[in-house]
Amino acid sequence: MKKDISSLHVPHNKNTAGCEPVRIATPSEVILPMNMHSGHDAEPIVNVGDHVKVGQLIAREEGRFSSPVHATVSGTVVEIAPIPTASGKETIAIRIESDGKMEVSETVKPPVINDCASFLQAVREGGIVGLGGAAFPTWAKFNEATNPDYKVDTVLINAAECEPYITSDHRMMLAHPDLIADGIEYLRKYMNEYLGNATFKICIETNKADAIEVLKNTFADKDYVVIHELKTIYPQGAKQVMLYNATGRVAVAGRRFPSFGALIINVSSLAKMAEYLNTGMPIVERIVTVDGSAVENPMNLIAPIGTRVSELLKITGLKSNPGKIIIGGPMNGTAIYSVDDPIVKVANAVLAFDEKDAVLPEPSACINCGRCMEKCPVSISVADVARAMTVKDKDKMAKLLIQTGVRQCVDCACCNYVCPANRHLLQINWDAKAFLKKYAAEQKEGGNK
Ligand code: SF4
Ligand code: SF4
Repeated sequence: MKKDISSLHVPHNKNTAGCEPVRIATPSEVILPMNMHSGHDAEPIVNVGDHVKVGQLIAREEGRFSSPVHATVSGTVVEIAPIPTASGKETIAIRIESDGKMEVSETVKPPVINDCASFLQAVREGGIVGLGGAAFPTWAKFNEATNPDYKVDTVLINAAECEPYITSDHRMMLAHPDLIADGIEYLRKYMNEYLGNATFKICIETNKADAIEVLKNTFADKDYVVIHELKTIYPQGAKQVMLYNATGRVAVAGRRFPSFGALIINVSSLAKMAEYLNTGMPIVERIVTVDGSAVENPMNLIAPIGTRVSELLKITGLKSNPGKIIIGGPMNGTAIYSVDDPIVKVANAVLAFDEKDAVLPEPSACINCGRCMEKCPVSISVADVARAMTVKDKDKMAKLLIQTGVRQCVDCACCNYVCPANRHLLQINWDAKAFLKKYAAEQKEGGNK
């Protein structure tokens, strides 16, 4: 294992670090997809023609890792229909025409919590998911830490925000250290049996000096909270990387995170959770950084979830025709097909790049330079992964792929970034991981027969 396992200096381009978030005017409509989390799609419980209010439950979770969806404007449900997603699949979305009043639902009130079980249930009902990108339901993550086989002594609050351009977590920390403090106290109170003696490490890169100062002042009298400063090197925010750089522990593939004695939560997820528990208002809006070479005035905007990307770009203005629009960061984000797509719970940024910046260079043959492995935080040789993917025999391919360690891949795209042959290495890893997942399922099914 390397000494510091994040090692790529990418330009920060944090142009909006000084931009206070501005709340947008209520959009005329919002589109709320049912797949804003990692599990099964949520199930709509409203019908076309229904009147809804802000914070009202409009779709119920379907299954363990699903998450509910709430109305983010008041108005009328005008359509429930499939929409395309960036992955190529479709998902059902609920379109609400706003009445412009932003009337809050009568159901919005702080949840009643008496113990750990009712705490987890409340976090589940608030629709809180990992806002750093993974969208894993937060209650399920906490629930894993209650496993008696695990002894969690460290809670890592992920405030690295290591992707270029994005400053939404940074601005949230400056505006709401109170919510971060409340979130920590909720965890200590209701998960006391599991986290009572844990140290809470707020892991933050050194390029956010003002936020570090605010956090140090906020937690000056709390000896169980440590502001853990990390080098400004990508990808500090990847959970395996953060675990190692903050605790020295190594994440092993195939094991749940709390088995390493640590729980990790994104700082904005923690703040949103506290807001919900304080007020009963679920995730209905978020800070979105809007930036990129095609954007006229980069800004941080507070927008209802479901607002179309085009509405945000109208506010910031465009100085050229965008050749590519990404939700999230340039390293790990997802390109979208249309400016009509909505922002979802994890949409911490909308980046619009001009046509010149959007052109991908043509890939050429691997020259075996080893740079992908050298810069990989978990030392994977993607050249080896690519070779293994050409093997015809499925069992042999699976064995070789497991040997490469590709299951440990954190999707950071460092390999892509440094490859002199411009090979699409992240895609190779995704294909390899998808193959291994399918292979494992087939093996399990075969064993059950
Ligand atoms: S293989 Fe590539 S995407 Fe995966 S962790 Fe390594 S550098 Fe990141
Ligand atoms: S960085 Fe690119 S060219 Fe170099 S070994 Fe890896 S895949 Fe091959």
